[in-house]
Amino acid sequence: MNMLDCIVIGGGPSGLSASLTLGRARRNIALFDDGTNRNKVTHESHGFITRDGIKPQAFKEIGLKELENYPSISYFNTTITEIIKDTSNESYIVTTKDGQQFSTEKIILATGIQEMFSIQNVRNYYGKSLFSCPYCDGWELRDKPLVVMADKEERALHMAKLIYNWSKDLVVVTNGLELSNEGVQELQKCNIKIKSEPIKNLIGEDGYLQKIEFVTGETITRSGGFVIPSFYRPNQFAEILGCEIQDNGAVVTDGVGRTTQKNIYIAGETETSGPSSLIISAADGNRAAVSVNTDLTMERFGLQA
Ligand SMILES: Cc1cc2nc3c(=O)[nH]c(=O)nc-3n(C[C@H](O)[C@H](O)[C@H](O)COP(=O)(O)OP(=O)(O)OC[C@H]3O[C@@H](n4cnc5c(N)ncnc54)[C@H](O)[C@@H]3O)c2cc1C
Repeated sequence: MNMLDCIVIGGGPSGLSASLTLGRARRNIALFDDGTNRNKVTHESHGFITRDGIKPQAFKEIGLKELENYPSISYFNTTITEIIKDTSNESYIVTTKDGQQFSTEKIILATGIQEMFSIQNVRNYYGKSLFSCPYCDGWELRDKPLVVMADKEERALHMAKLIYNWSKDLVVVTNGLELSNEGVQELQKCNIKIKSEPIKNLIGEDGYLQKIEFVTGETITRSGGFVIPSFYRPNQFAEILGCEIQDNGAVVTDGVGRTTQKNIYIAGETETSGPSSLIISAADGNRAAVSVNTDLTMERFGLQA
């Protein structure tokens, strides 16, 4: 097995950007991506300057095409299932789901996050008419009759106030949670309606929400809105490799992608275990790649980074 300088796991904006930076620095790297990016459910991505409105798949294809210009980058469309440390020479053996193995000095974890929804049926609408990030999709939903679905008071109030700038026709649905008097007053001041009854069903067609049905039998008409999922890392690589993790689930780093585990770097949403954006994730990837390249450079000269 030839020893690679770095393996990048995850080909979202963070992993693509990290790979581009390392390829341009003439490092021998392999990028792995299995196409499970959470934004694949949406038609268009917004807010990445020069790419506003691009389809997530097109973003990935353009990124991969650009990497083809750099001969030291290999790309594999597969899942990494295991990373183990080779203690004999402080390198890592990375295994794919079909049993291929690769040896590498350094690894960038860029595997993103995934969502969990407490409200049944949201998945059917997520990415088409229900979204979680107003900066990404608020503009497309402007002035429409919207719902904010949240079953924690702090989140409901925060999201409702934020969305109010995109649409004044807002109903906050709390799925059984009674808001405090102060919370109710804050929302009522701006004419934001509140429905606290548990939701029975979301009704619509082809991913486009039309109505919300409550257990009481009542329905309200809404054409879209925002939900607040819980987020989690889709794997335990950081934990297994011994990286220090904060109480809030974020991986401890030096701010430029180095984890507390030598030779393990992290970039994009998987670092904080929380949502971010294409442009911020791409910047994270660039930063982590510069750290990898700096460390390789120093190590080649027998110096500490
Ligand atoms: C519905 C929706 C709409 C969005 N709209 C926008 C928008 O308009 N604008 C915006 O800026 N952001 C938007 N986002 C957020 C944006 O998608 C993320 O911020 C961004 O993709 C995070 O980049 P990342 O590289 O950290 O992770 P990801 O893009 O999630 O990439 C991680 C990659 O890792 C790969 N992977 C995971 N595990 C493995 C493994 N074991 N082996 C191999 N590969 C693996 C996955 O296949 C995936 O491609 C949206 C998100 C969603 C869900």
